[in-house]
Amino acid sequence: MEGHEHQCGGKGGHPCGANDNIKDAYSKMKHDNTGKMSGDYMKNMKNQMRLLFWETTAACNLECIHCRRLDVSKELAEDDMTTEESIKFIDELADAANPILILSGGEPLYRPDIFEIAGHASKRGLKVALATNGTLVDEEKAKEIKKADVQRVSISIDGADAKTHDNFRKIEGSFEGAIRGFNNLKKIGMSVQVNCTIAKHNVDQFEDIYKLALSLGSDALHVFMLVPVGCGVQIADDQMLTPDRYEEVLHQIYDKAQESKIHLKATCAPHYFRIMRERAKKEGITISPKTHGMAAMTKGCLAGTAVCFVSHKGEVFPCGYLPVESGNVRKTNIKDIWDSSAIFTNLRDISLLEGKCGVCEYKKVCEGCRARAFYDTGNYMAEEPYCVYQPKSVSNSK
Ligand code: SF4
Ligand code: SF4
Repeated sequence: MEGHEHQCGGKGGHPCGANDNIKDAYSKMKHDNTGKMSGDYMKNMKNQMRLLFWETTAACNLECIHCRRLDVSKELAEDDMTTEESIKFIDELADAANPILILSGGEPLYRPDIFEIAGHASKRGLKVALATNGTLVDEEKAKEIKKADVQRVSISIDGADAKTHDNFRKIEGSFEGAIRGFNNLKKIGMSVQVNCTIAKHNVDQFEDIYKLALSLGSDALHVFMLVPVGCGVQIADDQMLTPDRYEEVLHQIYDKAQESKIHLKATCAPHYFRIMRERAKKEGITISPKTHGMAAMTKGCLAGTAVCFVSHKGEVFPCGYLPVESGNVRKTNIKDIWDSSAIFTNLRDISLLEGKCGVCEYKKVCEGCRARAFYDTGNYMAEEPYCVYQPKSVSNSK
């Protein structure tokens, strides 16, 4: 699956006013040294949907080993939502909320009507992003993407060199194709970011991936920590970092983020937000958008609180890696699912967190990855299994 990234955006009701996305909000908040405005934005008390990931098709031209899909098809899937269903869904979404809509897949550019869909969503006022593996983005496609008013494209690059990336993506030439696609978009002035999934096979290349993103002129680098879902389950034993190594990488990301050379974001690594606070405290810094950029305005796991995922069949999940179905947009309006699903309601109640996450002093800013908890225990409110932190109440009782 392409592009399970959190480019937080938001709409009215927070201190910055209606229709702000996180960038607009950030520019207004960065001079607020008290951190209050960003804290309020981060808490998102009204559970505004800020990002909706939509897997527009199950089809893809690659067979990445970490994909959330087990049934990737090279043909368009018969049960993909039709154009009419897609337009109806977008209309319902635009009536209900104002999230950034991330068109992903599979490979979204496999859908013949993808630009019609993107254009319609833009016309309805949604901010549209496209998450692609980049290999199909020739000069013509790049222009079409721009014409459909897509505001940001993310391209997945999972290694600092062709060998590492192609090995992970299972197709020779996919690295070159991704870079070519990236450059074709950049050339016509599109905003492009690199998404990278970190696992054992490329963890030692983090520094070089960072340098690659800088040299490409990427607008952001979003670093995803592998979640054991779909094909990820099959490679979990081989590819999941140990909790200790995971912790080290998050510190590395923190150090690089402080250089402020690029918008660097640790995604689906909720305890990054604990580490950020631990480090800032040690360094005597008060966290604010000025000191920590947009990371000061968001929190760890956003599943069901600010983010949701719609599958190619219309099934709704709190995120693309947490396989607990919460409704289907083919039958139910997205607003009703977002407002009333029992699963979403549970995820919004941090008093229901269990194990050490339940007693952790960082739970409000972290929450642990609900998908990794689910993978480990079958219970999405259980404790995050890849966090080394011992909450004070746990360590004091020993
Ligand atoms: S459950 Fe995990 S994968 Fe899903 S949004 Fe939360 S941190 Fe990310
Ligand atoms: S124990 Fe849970 S809530 Fe606390 S930092 Fe670790 S993952 Fe986050």
